[in-house]
Formats: sequence, C-alpha cells, structure tokens
Amino acid sequence: MRGFQAYIDGAFTEGEARFASLDPATGEAWAQMPEAREADVDRAVRAADRALREGEWPRLTASARGKLLYRLADLVAENAQALAELETRDTGKIIRETSAQIAYVAEYYRYYAGLADKIEGAVLPIDKPDMEVWTRREPIGVVAAIVPWNSQLFLAAVKIGPALAAGCTLVVKASEDGPAPLLHFARLVHEAGFPAGVVNVLTGFGPSCGSALTRHPLVAHVAFTGGPETARHVVRGSADNLASTSLELGGKSPFLVFADADLDSAANAQVAAIFAATGQSCVAGSRLIVERSVKERFLAILKEKAERVAIGAPLDMGTEVGPLCTRRQRDHIQALVDRSTAAGARVLAGGRVPEGPGHYYPPTILDCDGTSAPALAEEFFGPVLSVVSFETEGEALALANDTAFGLASGVFTASLTRAHRLIRGIRAGVVWVNTYRAVSPIAPFGGTKLSGHGREGGLAAALDYTRTKTVWLRTSDDPIPDPFVMR
Ligand code: NDP
Repeated sequence: MRGFQAYIDGAFTEGEARFASLDPATGEAWAQMPEAREADVDRAVRAADRALREGEWPRLTASARGKLLYRLADLVAENAQALAELETRDTGKIIRETSAQIAYVAEYYRYYAGLADKIEGAVLPIDKPDMEVWTRREPIGVVAAIVPWNSQLFLAAVKIGPALAAGCTLVVKASEDGPAPLLHFARLVHEAGFPAGVVNVLTGFGPSCGSALTRHPLVAHVAFTGGPETARHVVRGSADNLASTSLELGGKSPFLVFADADLDSAANAQVAAIFAATGQSCVAGSRLIVERSVKERFLAILKEKAERVAIGAPLDMGTEVGPLCTRRQRDHIQALVDRSTAAGARVLAGGRVPEGPGHYYPPTILDCDGTSAPALAEEFFGPVLSVVSFETEGEALALANDTAFGLASGVFTASLTRAHRLIRGIRAGVVWVNTYRAVSPIAPFGGTKLSGHGREGGLAAALDYTRTKTVWLRTSDDPIPDPFVMR
C-alpha cells in the first residue's frame, strides 16, 4: 500500500496518526495518509508565521517571489500526468478530466507569478501641504486554505497562487477524501525552492484538523471551499481569531434554454454542466429551466446523450462518467432522488445505484414540473439533473432566481437583447451565455447568497490577500504646532 506524508516547515512528516484512503472505483483501501491533529496544525501554523516574519521570504523582492511561482508552475506542468493519475486514483474523477485540468492548473501559477510584482500601492493627493502620504499593500498574514475533495489541485491553486504573489504564507488542508494529489504537490513546492514554512500541506478530519486550523490565533485569513454547513463552522471558528474569510460554497445553478437556442449545442453544454466530473462540481448546471414549447424535444436529445455516456473505470481514457468520490456521497444522492420521486418527480433516465463494486451512479434526469421536489432546492453534488419548464421570460428569470444559492448560471438563446436582460437579472456570480463550465485564471470566480463571498481568479483575488498600510511622512522641519489640534 502506498504511503503519503504531510509537509510542515520544509520537512516531510508522518503525522500524528494514519488513516486509509479508499479507491472509489473498487471501494478498497489503496494508500495510507498522515492524519494531522491539533499539534500538527499548531506546528504548521507556527512555521508559517515564522516564515512570514523571519528568514528569506519577507526579504525577497516581489519579482523574486514571482520567479519561484514560475518555477512551481513549470513543475506542475512537468508533473501534470503523475498528479492527474493520483487524483483519479484517490477521488475517482476521470483521467480525461484530471489530466487536462491539472495541465491548466500550471497556468494559474503562471498568471499569479506574473502578478507578483504588479501589486502596487498609491501616492495620495493629500489635503495637507506638509505631508507625503502613500499606501503599501502588505501580505495579509498566515492563510489557512481549506479545500474539498473535488479538484483539490485546482481549488488549492486559486488560493496558493494569489496568496504567494501577495507575500503571504499558507497552511493548506487537503480533504481527508482523496488527499494524495495535494500531498504529492507539496514535493513540487519543496523542489521549486520555497523557503521552509512558506507553504505547509497537511490533511486530517474536519473537527480535529480543519477546525483547529480555522480557530488558530496566528491565522489571519481563511480561504475556504466546501459546503455551506461547514462554512458556518469556519465562520464560527473565525470568531475566535477574527480572521477574514473568503467562502466558495455550493450551488444549484440554473441552466436556461429558450426555444430559439441551438438545441443540440445546448444539450451538449447541459451534458458538460451536469454529467462531467460525475456532477461533483460546484458549478454543476443542476436545474434545467426549459421553454415549454421545446421541452419534449430537448429532453429527448438529452436523454439520448445521457444514456450513451460511457460509464467505467476512471483511469480509462474512454470513460466519461466515473464513480463518485465516496459511498457517503452516493447514499446522499440516492436518498435525495427517492425523496424527490416521493414528492412527484418522474425519473426520465438513471435514478438507481447499479450492481457491482465502486461508488457508481448513472446520469439521471428528473422531470420535476408541477412539483416542489427537494431535488429543485438541495445540492446533489452528483450526476442528477432536475427539470422544470416555463412559458415567459419573466417566469424563466423567477425560476432561475428561486434558489438559496447564487454561484453560476447558463443562458441559451439566439436573442442578444434577451441575453443582456438575463445577464442583469440573474443573481449569481457567473453567467455563461451559450456556453458553460469555462474558467480561466484571468476571470474572477465566486458566488453570492449561500454560495459564499469573495472572488478567486483575476487581479482582485491577489489584492484580497493584502492589507493596506497607510504611511504619513511630514515634510516640514518646523516644530509641530498646537498638540491639542488634530492634524
Ligand atoms: P465540506 O464542506 O464537507 O468539506 C470541505 C473541507 O472542509 C474539507 O477539507 C473538510 O475536511 C473541511 N472541514 C470539515 N469540517 C470542518 C470544520 N469544522 N472546520 C474546518 N474545516 C472543516 O465539503 P465537501 O468535501 O463535501 O465538498 C463538497 C462541497 O464543496 C459542495 O457543497 C460543493 O458545491 C462545494 N464546492 C464549491 C466550490 C466553489 O468553488 N464554489 C468548488 C468545489 C466544491 P474533511 O474532508 O476532512 O471533512
């Protein structure tokens, strides 16, 4: 069985305990992982705090920090295939997706490498004649970065890249489900030559590791991706250390199809939106809102595509839908499908756990028209699409916004004017028009409402890892006049 180590203060370590990681394709244990508890978390945060204040890191120029990030980007690109195989083995996400996604993760590090020496302060046109006043953007401090199991390298890169560009140090907590790729990534950080303590990577369980990390008095910012319920724990933890938070949470994203859209193209995008990554995607377009006049036609195209999807071993390049990451996840999906059918939803495809080993679940379509099935409101985080129909644009917009979440959305229409009206009307952090599930380091990403706050990607994300220091320098040699009058 393979063994992985945590990375604390520039050294690889076994952790306070060990736990087994299961291969989702077989349900069998395949690797031993280091379990960090409170003592390891404390060691890692103290190392990050030391690295922030002492030694080489705070003395590096921003350009030198950028060069280290470029080196890391190159190493990620060179090792993309090995990292992809680890992610596929440990999380069940298909190799077709992990190999493309991880090669692209290198671009995130490149983008933030280039940004490191473009984070500027400003000289202020101050309203006092004998003062020079300027601002400096300084690193916010020690960052706790917490990620869920899906796309761990990607979700870590959108935190590590901007935080390092800004000069912060980090403790990254991989999910206990599928931590192998992030633990291996720590070896690339080491090889790139970052000073000890700048990036620490560990894994462990939520209550003993994640919670200790978010509450630690030396943590200044918590960058969290996960579910809204865990986010509430994170925010409660931050009541202890008053750390700032950025929260990238779940979604129940609407996917709007109008009668004038190219239905075949929209159906392909809908397949990508809900069945790619076996639906374990925060931006999953999980609520199809389709114009009634084309509902039957669109669903026929979609059902045919859903039933043709190749389900199989995640390490096989031919596979399109692999297993879910955990048994727990599969049980949650089946229970939510069952509650929804009990509430009147009709199963058009899938809907049942298949025979055999592994945590597989088939692409599933639920027609929820005329019901208030829980499938329309709750996140599956799996390959299940819920369908409702509309007659007017106003009705479509109301349905799109009828959710507690606000992460992503898709609009499929040939009408430019309608697209613009919906772009303005939809309450979500991302609107894709006639496309879906496109991302880039250049484009900010994040949600509103229960999907969280803060943005990852783009220039603003790096600025979020800085705090402004204001400097007042008096240019007069005269003694300070009346000390009892505010200057
Ligand atoms: P969770 O919220 O369960 O876990 C996320 C991370 O938080 C894990 O590392 C987990 O550790 C850790 N954690 C658990 N309890 C605590 C705690 N008390 N304090 C601090 N950390 C804790 O999410 P899932 O793993 O279930 O991931 C799925 C969720 O993530 C979905 O809702 C999905 O939509 C969302 N997501 C959002 C994305 C976005 O960018 N908006 C992207 C991807 C996913 P452990 O694994 O050990 O329990």
